[in-house]
Amino acid sequence: MSADWFRRRFLPGSPLPAPRPPRPRASPVPYRRPRFLRGSGSSPGTADAPRRPDARPVRSPARGRALPWNAGYAEIINAEKSEFNEDQAACGKLCIRRCEFQEDQEWLTLCPEELLTGHYWALFDGHGGPAAAILAANTLHSCLRRQLEAVVEGMMATQPPMHLSGHCVCPSDPQFVEEKGIRVEDLVIGALESAFQECDEVIGRELEASGQVGGCTALVAVSLQGKLYVANAGDSRDEVRPLSSEFTPETERQRIQQLAFVYPELLAGEFTRLEFPRRLKGDDLGQKVLFRDHHMSGWSYKCVEKSDLKYPLIHGQGRQARLLGTLAVSRGLGDHQLRVLDTNILLKPFLLSVPQVTVLDMNQLEPQEEDVVVMATDGLWDVLSNEQVARLVWSFLPGNREDPHRFSELAQMLIHSTQGKDDSPTQEGQVSYDDVSVFVIPLHNQGQGCSSH
Ligand code: MG
Repeated sequence: MSADWFRRRFLPGSPLPAPRPPRPRASPVPYRRPRFLRGSGSSPGTADAPRRPDARPVRSPARGRALPWNAGYAEIINAEKSEFNEDQAACGKLCIRRCEFQEDQEWLTLCPEELLTGHYWALFDGHGGPAAAILAANTLHSCLRRQLEAVVEGMMATQPPMHLSGHCVCPSDPQFVEEKGIRVEDLVIGALESAFQECDEVIGRELEASGQVGGCTALVAVSLQGKLYVANAGDSRDEVRPLSSEFTPETERQRIQQLAFVYPELLAGEFTRLEFPRRLKGDDLGQKVLFRDHHMSGWSYKCVEKSDLKYPLIHGQGRQARLLGTLAVSRGLGDHQLRVLDTNILLKPFLLSVPQVTVLDMNQLEPQEEDVVVMATDGLWDVLSNEQVARLVWSFLPGNREDPHRFSELAQMLIHSTQGKDDSPTQEGQVSYDDVSVFVIPLHNQGQGCSSH
């Protein structure tokens, strides 16, 4: 983002934080469960059934409804933390068509046939209500398709080395593309990054129009041309070999402190950007304490001043860490109107909608029968470690090779393992009270079966 854009949008005097005249409100975003769960006993248009401890069913797509790559999916609603299941999921085929950029700045589809086909799986974990996650599940794949169609000519070019001289990509100076070493996968990563930003803007507009609030994390896997791209913005994760890491106020401390250093007005004099090992009190004035600032990964000493007694920009440890005392994630979609309680301080400037993208090259990997990607919202990772998930995968799949529904069964087993049942394969009885959603994507024999959004 440019400094000018940032200043116009977020700093005092900018139009966004100022109250706007009331406008006629659009209808609220209707609650629903993922479309591929239709026919599985869920009720897409209504709130979930009342939740007694024994009445939280694990839901999976109906038998016979194959997801892309025969992936498994399962979900469970939270234990009365909120009225709705605030996780959402989407998956389907991505059909990329040829487009040309016209002089009148309109996109025109010249050729209706698909140039490129891929697949898409996505998990969204909502907070502050289900609306942002539903909008993301409805929208992000369309944003991604549009972004990929803008660069598909370059992706399809066959001249070596991964030549991108197609007129969609760099019409005037193709030699610079080559000199820069820009690869096809860089175009896909850029398309994912732009799609997340575009989706974030759509969510902001739609929520404002309908008078709703909230945000969501986003974890997306996309298969294209023999590669699997995993894009993550938030604290959902994938396993067995970690392809993404979670983004929390703690993991992104330096980026967040750096922003407060450059634009101290974002804290409105209410917070200190410095991190201390504990919350400082009046008694600490004049004492030497450990601290760290935006440029430091280690700790150093300073003498406590009055301004250090303010509430810290990032406070708490682990799952309890909060940004501006409010939010547990540092990337995600939505939250355009979220403010610190009883203040005018916006959270949005500190939140990145841009994902981290990891690329898995299937040709190099040569996946084996039991190689899977497990994508899950934080409800799973709160109670199961990477190693426990890996053990569950390896204990289940080898003995069930003949079962065509084994990936769905595995997704359901992973959910059961978060419910602290006595028969849980982990035998450790941890319970997740959050919504939990899991995709298990097999990497071996990819390309079996698909469904539309
Ligand atoms: Mg969650």
